[in-house]
Amino acid sequence: MQRGSLFVISGPSGTGKGEIVKRLLAKHPDVAVSTSCTTRAPRPGEVNGREYHFVTDEEFDRLVAEGAFYEWAHVHQNRYGTLKSVVAQQLDQGKDLILEIDVQGCREAAQQDSNVVSIFVCPPSRENLEKRLRGRGTETEESIRVRLGNMAGEIDQAFHYDYVIVHQDWNDVPDALEIAVEEVYAVICARRVSVSKKTDFLKHLTASLRK
Ligand code: 5GP
Repeated sequence: MQRGSLFVISGPSGTGKGEIVKRLLAKHPDVAVSTSCTTRAPRPGEVNGREYHFVTDEEFDRLVAEGAFYEWAHVHQNRYGTLKSVVAQQLDQGKDLILEIDVQGCREAAQQDSNVVSIFVCPPSRENLEKRLRGRGTETEESIRVRLGNMAGEIDQAFHYDYVIVHQDWNDVPDALEIAVEEVYAVICARRVSVSKKTDFLKHLTASLRK
């Protein structure tokens, strides 16, 4: 079995990354997503172990000290981390795994593994992003202000990613979500047929032809 590949999806809060990933998993069960640990409080409707493993500051400190994280970062005044065990297990099972993490996490992942494929999800405009954040109804005014303030710096980081996907406003493009989902899936499929993923196959084929 071929080992899976690792994909990072980042983008400013409220771009609909979560929505894109959720829909992608529903449509394409050959892809998995890693559930991160976070010290932030659950939002209404979030379930421990589904959206995140919600942990205390002390538990997070312990996981850091144990070296349990593949990467971790401070984001918007909380801490978030990807567990090494989740990454290893999914990739070993041949699953293509998505890490929905911030730009710092992406940098850390890319330093550890130069084969990580990074995808940046962008809003079409500032107005659209602000509308989405407010529409979500889960953020305080303070949190919206912090997240918008971080946005310019975050968009600058897109230049370091491999792919950029613009999640259009569904008022303008009714199929915006499906388009974004299929663009992400196209990147995943392209990776599967990349030469680096086919090296063993090509070696076997040429060896058998030379017999
Ligand atoms: P939220 O609190 O809105 O769910 O997520 C806030 C930000 O934290 C998002 O940009 C999300 O991608 C990022 N994030 C979630 N999990 C992780 C993680 O495990 N590591 C890092 N570095 N960032 C994460």
